[in-house]
Amino acid sequence: MVILKGAEVSAKIKEQAEKDLRIIKEKTGKTPKLAIVRIGEKPDDLSYERGAKKKLESFGLETEVYPFPEEISHQEFKAEFEKINEDCNITGILLLKPLPKQINEKEIDSIIDPSKDMDGISPVNIAKIFAGEESGYAPCTAEAVIETLKANQIPISGKRTVIVGRSMIVGKPLSMLLLKENATVTICHTKTVNLKETCQEAEILVAAAGRGKMLNQDYVGSGAVVIDVGINVDENGRLCGDVDFESIEGLASMATPVPGGVGAVTTAVLAKHLVKAAMEHLPS
Ligand code: NDP
Repeated sequence: MVILKGAEVSAKIKEQAEKDLRIIKEKTGKTPKLAIVRIGEKPDDLSYERGAKKKLESFGLETEVYPFPEEISHQEFKAEFEKINEDCNITGILLLKPLPKQINEKEIDSIIDPSKDMDGISPVNIAKIFAGEESGYAPCTAEAVIETLKANQIPISGKRTVIVGRSMIVGKPLSMLLLKENATVTICHTKTVNLKETCQEAEILVAAAGRGKMLNQDYVGSGAVVIDVGINVDENGRLCGDVDFESIEGLASMATPVPGGVGAVTTAVLAKHLVKAAMEHLPS
């Protein structure tokens, strides 16, 4: 089984981004800047924030964190978010989610400037992804799956592809991105019957259920390409994916590890989106 390493995919994304970044700097003299907006101090958010800052800085991009207290009211947060949204020194915005329950998440999603929406939360970008338009921004993790397949020259067109998970951040947008690449897509969830059999038929199997090591040898067909989006903590406190990696070793042809797989590509896609946003605002 070939192990698909996220670092190699990330390096390929960086190569292209660096070319565009040189053009941006020549034409504007400025470095694109990402605003990372965080409410509270959840360990998951802090960990993602650290990873995103490190990756973007390694691409030569700027980041600035905008932290807000956990108890901030919806109206106060909305007013602060609008200031960030309108700041012409900010190229793109990443809003760390989930938001505390007093914040109306849907309203914030709907006011983010679609051209600064680096993780595809705006209804405008969701519609563009649904319509297969290239000008939209997909959620970074969903796009990271496509980048992983393409960087490893894995054919997508016509392939039987099964996604386990239908969230707005991974499963649903990924189904649209795969469809755009002409895959035949099946989306599974907690009400799917015959989950094992359905997964076994996949030529490309994407695990995005958030259930540690759930997909074992019973779910994987011979020769399948397995992409593991899951980030979970196992009984020993170690990071693990949704796939029981060891049990599928003799079955799958290729698989992404956790850690070191899709997660590393997700922040590279975030950097790519920031460069794309800056390219779109270049003076003609
Ligand atoms: P959600 O909890 O929002 O969605 C999980 C989905 O999986 C749901 O659609 C759910 O079905 C389905 N599901 C859960 N359990 C089962 C099961 N036993 N059988 C079939 N389907 C099931 O999770 P996210 O989409 O936000 O995240 C998924 C995983 O990806 C998590 O581990 C998360 O940590 C990770 N992640 C990784 C990122 C990265 O950068 N690598 C970024 C974002 C997330 P139903 O709709 O019926 O409830």
